[in-house]
Amino acid sequence: MRSPIPDYLIEALAGVMPDTSGATAGYIPELASADPEHLGAVFATVDGEVYGAGDVDDEFTIQSISKPFTYALALADRGFDLVLNKVGVEPSGEAFNELSLEGGSGRPLNPMINVGAIATHSLVGPEGRGPAERLERVVGGLSAFAGRRLEVDDSVYASEMEHAHRNLAIGHMLRSHHVLTEDPVAVVEGYTRQCSLLVTARDLALMAATLANRGVNPVSGVRVVPEAVVRQVLSVMSTCGMYDGAGDWATRVGIPAKSGVSGGLIGALPGQIGIATFSPRLDHHGTSVRGVSLFERFSSDMGLHLMEVPAAARAVLRSNHVVGTGSTAIRILQLQGGIGFAGAERVVREVVDTAPGEDRVALDLTMVHSLDDVARRMLLEVARRLTLDGHEVYLVDPESVLPGPDPGDGGRVTVVDDLDSAATRSGVLTDA
Ligand code: GLN
Repeated sequence: MRSPIPDYLIEALAGVMPDTSGATAGYIPELASADPEHLGAVFATVDGEVYGAGDVDDEFTIQSISKPFTYALALADRGFDLVLNKVGVEPSGEAFNELSLEGGSGRPLNPMINVGAIATHSLVGPEGRGPAERLERVVGGLSAFAGRRLEVDDSVYASEMEHAHRNLAIGHMLRSHHVLTEDPVAVVEGYTRQCSLLVTARDLALMAATLANRGVNPVSGVRVVPEAVVRQVLSVMSTCGMYDGAGDWATRVGIPAKSGVSGGLIGALPGQIGIATFSPRLDHHGTSVRGVSLFERFSSDMGLHLMEVPAAARAVLRSNHVVGTGSTAIRILQLQGGIGFAGAERVVREVVDTAPGEDRVALDLTMVHSLDDVARRMLLEVARRLTLDGHEVYLVDPESVLPGPDPGDGGRVTVVDDLDSAATRSGVLTDA
């Protein structure tokens, strides 16, 4: 069978093809002269499957899509405190190239607008390194997100630098407020090289999928940044990634995203996929016109909006019954599925309401495929309280979904592979 997913992508591209509104970025001559008809879309799953249609392997410069990844590197290299001290996380509601700083602190409002991104560029790599070493860390880091070595397009770099008066003004403003403490021109040059890295839609989808996959590139298997960094980056992408169009995007598309003035657009849906589109004509925010239409379509066709409320978690409690009688009786709660806070609360309530009279209680996790950390802690607390109430507690856990269970303070659990061994240990079968 042929996968329907590339066919779906081809159809989606055909749907936006007639829209020739918008214009290529006018302020960077090399981008202004780009072929406006390029069009491509790629999905990359968190287990490394890549689907594409159209211009999937054509190279273009990454531009502002580099910002969330550089922010990730700065957080990983210098830590949250230092980076947050220099660059805020508040949406600015302003255009990407606004000369603005937060009143009072003098920090850039967020790392997605140029002023914040230029400051962020200066924070990549160990303190005190020169511009060349820093750029190497940026190129190496973004390459690790993509899973292949990326190169700078020198002609786009030169073209942008010739007209970089605004970004240079931003650099000098940052220097005068001591957000930058070094030569601002060198930082703007480094930032502009960062923006001039050549990528394909396929690269961008994999970079986004690395964010969707908690910081591990799903094809190379390399962990690029820690999970806590990814959460921070995705949060900032969802509030600030689309600049003064962030609210519109959040309501219509609902996927953490970032756009760039060469026509790329990425979205990262945590735990599911990375998406990238490429079409160079831009709207007044500097975002690809067809890219926005494609994302709107993907989000609604596939229910990808993050605020889409999932169907109420299916019953986690499969059964609550007793095997054996009298002193050999064992109360068994069979759980199933993926258990988060709401599911664990349901189990807690069931145990409280049942108030088991049997000496032995088993929580059967055989059909549980995942336990969130909070669910794990809640089930262990149930085990601890049952022990304190005088019960012997068993965990039926053949797949070790709850490894090394330690209910702490007075709690005790016995782990068994199947219900029979729980019953045998508790004497049901031997006594039967
Ligand atoms: N290099 C571009 C700039 O700084 C990036 C802007 C963008 O893609 N929004 O102006």
